[in-house]
Amino acid sequence: MYRHTVDYFKDRPDRRVLINRGFFFNDLPRLTPLCRAFGHKPVVDGYDSQFGNRDRSRWVACGRCGARPEPQGHLDPDQWDVGRPYTGLFNPGQPMSSPTVRKQLAARGFDEGIRLPGAWPAKPTGTVGAQLTLGRSHTLGAGIKVGNRGSEHTLAAHVGLGPLGALFLHTERHGTFLQRWLNPTGYESRVIDIAFHNGRVWWQLWDRRDEHRATDPAWQSGNANIHPAHYLFGERTAEVLEETKTDGTVWMPDGTSYPVTLTLEKWQRGRRRGRKCTTWAISWDCPGGIPVRNDSWKGDNTLGGGFSLPAEAAESRHWPAVACALIAKSCASDRARYDYHPAA
Ligand SMILES: [Zn+2]
Repeated sequence: MYRHTVDYFKDRPDRRVLINRGFFFNDLPRLTPLCRAFGHKPVVDGYDSQFGNRDRSRWVACGRCGARPEPQGHLDPDQWDVGRPYTGLFNPGQPMSSPTVRKQLAARGFDEGIRLPGAWPAKPTGTVGAQLTLGRSHTLGAGIKVGNRGSEHTLAAHVGLGPLGALFLHTERHGTFLQRWLNPTGYESRVIDIAFHNGRVWWQLWDRRDEHRATDPAWQSGNANIHPAHYLFGERTAEVLEETKTDGTVWMPDGTSYPVTLTLEKWQRGRRRGRKCTTWAISWDCPGGIPVRNDSWKGDNTLGGGFSLPAEAAESRHWPAVACALIAKSCASDRARYDYHPAA
């Protein structure tokens, strides 16, 4: 067993963080009491391509702890179905670790022997890793992950305490017994997780970690608003109360003018039973466009978009003039930014 640590703080210094460090315990002997007592339980493992081609493979692994013989074997997919007990022969004495030796043996007709699984590892080991943050952690919640047959991290868990800190744990190969028991087939990890952010609680109950399907039951994942104001004053709304359209003319400081269509919208935002806030928005449309940028290969660009108008202007009958002046100002600023030269 050897240990090493990684200082994540050095990469992302943050004065609200005291410690952000990873701890790794490598080559840690695995606890496999049943396999130690009764021996491993050989089953056929492998995959079939989902794309209908001939990419198939079969090997041997322990159905309890997931350890694989060395080598893992190279079985005939037509004879061995994934998941069934392996009742075939082992060839523990073969010099398997060298691919060159294997090739030479195969060339001399010892093909059968070298396709068999070898000896079980004498001392199965794995890694346990942790990341500890003391101070701001950007995470509030807790969860566990049970990996799949192809996961690098067999099991993982975390707890996040927001500004106080967080702890993440993972195992490599340790806990394969649980993984094979709870999530034996497929290549999708499962999570049980609860998280708090954006005023909501989010949950996942044995949910696939990386994919969601329309057929998934509703309880498997979801979220709910937990902001007190939501229940006291209702949900947040934003609606347009009035809309006024009119024509106007934008006079640029160089004396040119452009006809525009102006739209004034009166917006009301707030909670259904709470205080409301009113704003006005202007959008404008200039069919010919107002040139603000020289573009040798594209011609002059046009400017569009909308911006907000102060209440005092919006409620006055002079709002189109104020809007046109704001448009001229915005276009003049853009001309300065892009160093615009009017065509000769
Ligand atoms: Zn085992």
